[in-house]
Amino acid sequence: MKKKKITFLILIIGLIASTILIYDKYYPSPSLSKISIGDRITVWTVTIILLIYYVSSNSKPQLVPSVLTNEKETSREKDKSNVSFNDVAGLEEIKEELQETIDFINNSSKYRKMGAKIPKGILFYGPPGTGKTLLAKAVAGETNSTFLYASGSEFVEKYVGVGAKRVRTLFERAKKEAPSIIFIDEIDAIGTKRNLDSNNEKDQTLNQLLVEMDGFNTDETVIIIGATNRLDLLDEALLRPGRFDRHIYVGNPNMKAREKILQVHTKNKPLDKTIDIVDIAKKTHGLSGAELANIANEAAIIAVRNNKSKISIDHFDAAIERVLAGLEVKNPTVLLKEKKTVSVHEAGHAIVSKILKTDLVQKISIVPRGQALGYVLKFPDEDRYLFTKQELMNKISGLLAGRAAEQLIFNEITTGAKDDLDKATHIAKEMVCSYGMSSLGPMAMDEQHIKHNYDILRIEIKKILDKGYKDALKILEENKDILNHVANTLMEKEIIDNEELDAIFKIYENPFDCAT
Ligand code: ATP
Repeated sequence: MKKKKITFLILIIGLIASTILIYDKYYPSPSLSKISIGDRITVWTVTIILLIYYVSSNSKPQLVPSVLTNEKETSREKDKSNVSFNDVAGLEEIKEELQETIDFINNSSKYRKMGAKIPKGILFYGPPGTGKTLLAKAVAGETNSTFLYASGSEFVEKYVGVGAKRVRTLFERAKKEAPSIIFIDEIDAIGTKRNLDSNNEKDQTLNQLLVEMDGFNTDETVIIIGATNRLDLLDEALLRPGRFDRHIYVGNPNMKAREKILQVHTKNKPLDKTIDIVDIAKKTHGLSGAELANIANEAAIIAVRNNKSKISIDHFDAAIERVLAGLEVKNPTVLLKEKKTVSVHEAGHAIVSKILKTDLVQKISIVPRGQALGYVLKFPDEDRYLFTKQELMNKISGLLAGRAAEQLIFNEITTGAKDDLDKATHIAKEMVCSYGMSSLGPMAMDEQHIKHNYDILRIEIKKILDKGYKDALKILEENKDILNHVANTLMEKEIIDNEELDAIFKIYENPFDCAT
């Protein structure tokens, strides 16, 4: 890399000198008259040679994955993982499942005597940031194996045969340095179903991977761990027994797991005594391990920015808001009229969500963050895995309440509901096509079905959305005073927390409760 930079620098100097010398040929300058024609030809020749060398070195395909390129520089120790299972919080059942593989690597002779074959491939699948890479590193750490990381996209090349060659090189090294763990992140980049998109280079790479996985002899302790966000896209051949035959779902952490992940990531941070990790775990429903790690780090940065020696709950709240709602826009240029609309819109969301008890409203804000002009920070009071039809309808009403509030107060609607409409339509579509919660009855539909019956489905989806919108509008009409009060307070203070919202509700006694 360094050599390339130096060549590039000399090339630039050469090009500049050559240009000056050519210019001097047509418009002679007295200061350059001493340079002989021989010297001039030397400068031009060297520049041309450098140019040819630079262009050709850039166009050569790299035949080995980046993990192996600086093989000489990378000592074997560097490929050892220092991550252990103690660093992986939650995910207890997955760690238990992997224990057997670890035992296999650590005591392989015991299994071989019994004639048992070492499991070759494990596939982690699930949403991003849930700890798939971390788990693979922990398996390597627990077994003191060499950890070879490669990303699926590194094998995708325009030159036919390059990807396959890289796969071969990777496996050769893994065998040489056994026991080893090969971790292929984003394996879908090379492992998608072959009939879906026919691509010669990709097919060759996948074939090579299959050949390498089949080609292990049982004396080699090499485990391949793949990770993907899309298991459904992978080629059947990759998933069959003898290849990636263990599929492990790694999902977003539940309340208890979030608590443990936060504990791991705050272990070495000075926390204020008042901080309750359980409380933070509650407020971070739906977030991945990576997002929780990010929140712990952001909180520490905010504490430093505020010149504090300990991280307080306020720093955590600010970090959660930063991760959930985006960066606060400094000096926003929102028009007064727009500010009024946003206040009414957000007040609508908060009031309907609160009355229908879809979520605990924590904060309403009209301070722009990221792309949003305002937002309602809310979270469910407990982790939920099942939703009733009524609960989904309530969610839709909560999402459409922003638009309903605009309609009710201004008799006009704006583009501010775009994101809400997307989310509400998605829930309605799932109700019709996946959960059998429409008048079409208990049926689920695949993509083909949906494509061919879209007109019928659209009517069902529309019915659900119309009902959700009507309910939201009704609640807001019956609580118009609260809506105006919350919107006006937002205009004045920009932020309302849950206690202030409760206080406003108390003023107007018992609001209409649609959830009962
Ligand atoms: P992707 O699918 O995007 O590749 P991933 O599932 O491989 O993501 P990781 O890279 O393993 O996710 O996780 C990112 C970071 O999130 C980790 O380095 C770690 O700091 C944190 N993290 C995620 N899950 C956990 C967990 N269960 N315990 C502790 N930390 C975690």
